[in-house]
Amino acid sequence: MEIKSAEFITSAVKPSQYPQPDFPEIAFAGRSNVGKSSLINALVNRRHLVKTSRTPGRTQLINFFLINELLSFVDLPGYGYAKVPAAVKKKWGPMIETYLSSRESLKGVVLIMDIRRSPGTEELNFIDWLAREGLACLIVLTKTDKLSKTRQNKQLAKIAETVGRAREDLLLFSAKTKKGKPGIWQAIETIALDDTHA
Ligand code: GDP
Repeated sequence: MEIKSAEFITSAVKPSQYPQPDFPEIAFAGRSNVGKSSLINALVNRRHLVKTSRTPGRTQLINFFLINELLSFVDLPGYGYAKVPAAVKKKWGPMIETYLSSRESLKGVVLIMDIRRSPGTEELNFIDWLAREGLACLIVLTKTDKLSKTRQNKQLAKIAETVGRAREDLLLFSAKTKKGKPGIWQAIETIALDDTHA
């Protein structure tokens, strides 16, 4: 998709703070430091639209962005971040769950994982939960530039087996080389803008 505009709309912690559900929405989830901000910024051709986890503030909130005045991207707080106090962590689950289960304009979730790591229980539970909620889940394996092609293929096979999906269903991405970007956009457009998926 050619990006004409990409803007931050608002941050929210509860439904009354969400913007009007006027646009089809895609949410992005993943462990902190997985490369979520880098992926979103790469998709919209902006270096700093989404702040990285190292920037305090916005990262513990649900952040809404409007792309091309056509669809909405939602950056969910990264989970599993060791530096976050337990009390804060406790609030994340319900905050994210409330958003995912109640947002009427939500078309699907992009779950980002590091291609070098095997999916943990957190990720597997999350994938199952999304399926039960009837939400589409695109899995993006990022940081592919850190592995040789042979090791990428090995990890791809392993991760596909663990999450119970065909290899072709997993999308590979590198924020460094931007490899994989067109395929991710295509998958997002199919979920968000194709009426047959609505
Ligand atoms: P977030 O916490 O999930 O939003 O992660 P960030 O996007 O802030 O990325 C965390 C770190 O990983 C940063 O130092 C990024 O530069 C780096 N990073 C993210 N994606 C990639 C990638 O595809 N390749 C490489 N080599 N580094 C990446």
